Amino acid sequence: MNILVVNCGSSTVKYQLFRMEDEDRHEVLAKGIVERIGIPGSRLECNHSGTLHIEERSVPNHRVALEWVVQVLTGGETRVLGSIKEIEAVGHRVVHGGEKFTGSVVIDEEVLQVIRACADLAPLHNPPNILGIEACRDLMPEVPQVAVFDTAFHGTLPEYAYIYAIPYEYYEKYRIRRYGFHGTSHRYVTERAAKMMGRDVKELRLITCHMGSGVSFTAVLHGKSIDTSMGFTPLEGLVMGTRCGDIDPAIVFSLMKKEGLSAEQVEEILNKRSGVLGISGISSDTRDIEDAAPHNHRARLTLEVIAYRAKKYIGAYYAILGGLDGLVFTAGIGENSSYIRKSICTGLEHLGIFIDDERNTVRRKEAFISRDDSPVKVMVIPTDEELMIARDTWRLVRETR
Ligand code: ADP
Repeated sequence: MNILVVNCGSSTVKYQLFRMEDEDRHEVLAKGIVERIGIPGSRLECNHSGTLHIEERSVPNHRVALEWVVQVLTGGETRVLGSIKEIEAVGHRVVHGGEKFTGSVVIDEEVLQVIRACADLAPLHNPPNILGIEACRDLMPEVPQVAVFDTAFHGTLPEYAYIYAIPYEYYEKYRIRRYGFHGTSHRYVTERAAKMMGRDVKELRLITCHMGSGVSFTAVLHGKSIDTSMGFTPLEGLVMGTRCGDIDPAIVFSLMKKEGLSAEQVEEILNKRSGVLGISGISSDTRDIEDAAPHNHRARLTLEVIAYRAKKYIGAYYAILGGLDGLVFTAGIGENSSYIRKSICTGLEHLGIFIDDERNTVRRKEAFISRDDSPVKVMVIPTDEELMIARDTWRLVRETR
């Protein structure tokens, strides 16, 4: 089954075309990205059958971007399909599924309505996801489409983990609660970790650390998410590229009063000017911070804060899991930064976490980085959200055939 996986952001469309033999056997026929949608200088960069191809043209909206994607898949030197008819299903990444979706679903009008209603909870993310679904439906009206939600894996959070201690009426009125994000990534690495450990996921206590420009940790008990660090929005939790993570909420009012800022301005500061960028004043990219650290106090401090806060979450999740079998690092930082992995794990030997320095030099490859005698297995697992979306799409479309 040829499955097109689509991930629409506010100004980007990322895609991958999978040929799925079955849930475990697949080939990636093509992948690429359209950038700067609706902004001058739109471009498409793709890699089809190992050849890099870059093109520029005006792309006013997501629909035109997806038309372009279909064009490069089916024509010219980038062609990997005979025609659009060979696309048998489309899988969409959708950020917010609200309380309704705790798993992936085939999209129909009713599902689309609920995704539209969830846009209120993810005003930056769901609208472009919806545009992508609508564009694909127009381009391929007969082709089944599946939505895979970032929030769905956390649908198993117990009520006491998702309720905030604010007046309950706001949960009832506005559904203000913890939802969690990066669920597709946490689910993927959970499955891979169990495979690597040669154990049934149902007997494992895992902490999965997704550390990219957004960062979230999840406590996974017997294959189910029981708590996660991102909350009502992706702003809560650990230190991120430009987001603050956990802060005292009173800081918001204090900033508003002292600096005469509006709610929107504070929102912008906490989302776009905080985190790694905010502390260091150098960059949101941890590579720049690692480079600057030997001669810059704030860069060193940033790395210390990242590790300290990560340790606190690991300790908290260790407590609620009742112990720990595996700790997983994934996404840009988790897959690449030996330094950050080591600084997080150092000092956690009392929890049974022992890193092997030589193994910890690994990058972007599945590997154990703990010592053989470490009670907790520490793993690096490159995430693959697109594959997870392709698998869910394959399964759901097969079931409905
Ligand atoms: P996104 O969350 O946007 O999908 P990624 O998962 O690709 O992003 O993570 C991007 C981040 O990963 C970068 O901002 C950078 O901080 C970090 N990163 C990527 N490669 C390295 C590296 N070699 N060393 C340290 N950090 C890295």
